[in-house]
Amino acid sequence: MIGKLEKYNGKYRIVSLALDQSTKEELLKEDIDFVFITDNDIRIYPENMVISEDKKIIDKLQNAHNYDVYELWENGRFSEYYDDSSVDNYFFVTAKCNSNCIMCPSPDASRQKGGSTSVDTLIEIAKHIPTDTPHLTITGGEPFMIGKDIFRFIAYLRDKFEYTEFLFLTNGRIFALESYVQRFVETVPASSIVAIPIHGSREKIHDSITQTRGSFEQTIRGIKNLLKAGIHIELRIVVSKMNENDICNIARLICDELSGIDYVSIMAMEMTGSARINVEKVWITYREAAKKIEEAVMLLLENEIDVKLYNFPLCTVKREFWTLCEKSISPDKVRYAEICDTCKLKKACGGLFSGTISMEKGELRAII
Ligand code: SF4
Repeated sequence: MIGKLEKYNGKYRIVSLALDQSTKEELLKEDIDFVFITDNDIRIYPENMVISEDKKIIDKLQNAHNYDVYELWENGRFSEYYDDSSVDNYFFVTAKCNSNCIMCPSPDASRQKGGSTSVDTLIEIAKHIPTDTPHLTITGGEPFMIGKDIFRFIAYLRDKFEYTEFLFLTNGRIFALESYVQRFVETVPASSIVAIPIHGSREKIHDSITQTRGSFEQTIRGIKNLLKAGIHIELRIVVSKMNENDICNIARLICDELSGIDYVSIMAMEMTGSARINVEKVWITYREAAKKIEEAVMLLLENEIDVKLYNFPLCTVKREFWTLCEKSISPDKVRYAEICDTCKLKKACGGLFSGTISMEKGELRAII
């Protein structure tokens, strides 16, 4: 949620939300900045100053949740950073990335010139998040692009969130360096998993997708180093026209050399950013992609490696694989087509990305 608090003209800051008296008192005790919503106004604490009397904004925020966290800018604009009712919250560390994947859903420019969140701000946001939050993702870009200062943030997470599950999304290349593996092992929270994509079974295919020479070798070395250090790993395979005939070979590589990982997620593409620009090179329909992965799924399962399918609408996947399909698209991006209203599996289906639905409309088949 975004909006403007018309009377605020202070500094940029992170604030929690209090909708009732008991939450307000709790946040005062914790000594963190927050905004308190009443029927008539919005006040910021600890100053206890009115920063809005706009009825529309009051109504909007009254539908949010206690302990949600917002960024508030000098001009009064605010945007939600953490939703306490969701299990899908994340820290966006940086837009920058040292790879340049051809089917990345972010645009080229953001990977090269995009901004980063300072570690102090990340820690300030984490301070506002309740300790009982079930799950947090650390993502980018490539989050480890901000250098070793990231370990100050990771250590803060470890010390504060004893029961939270953490998911680190990374291209894994940094873990080719033993020094990073060592620091990660020393600071990582106990319930953490690192998700790393493999785009091809060999350098030629993987590096042509990342458009970065040497990335295959670094990623594989990184995965092996993390495995040796006892870190939990999810491997991700994004299916595109560029690797559709190599999926089974990737599965074989995993079975032969990386079998200590926790599970493999096979993913359908999100067609925004670079993926959309490179549509001719990368796009295959979800139905075609689902067909191309069948052998790989069976190979992994036969080798006792768990498989999850992300972003595939149920009607594009064969029935035997339905139980592998996850509802993986975040609620703000999920869309269903008109035909889905007649589908008896709509509730169980994870739907489609908002940025991809136009490409898949003719492909969907209601299950009746
Ligand atoms: S028709 Fe729609 S709801 Fe049904 S499985 Fe396909 S995408 Fe999902």
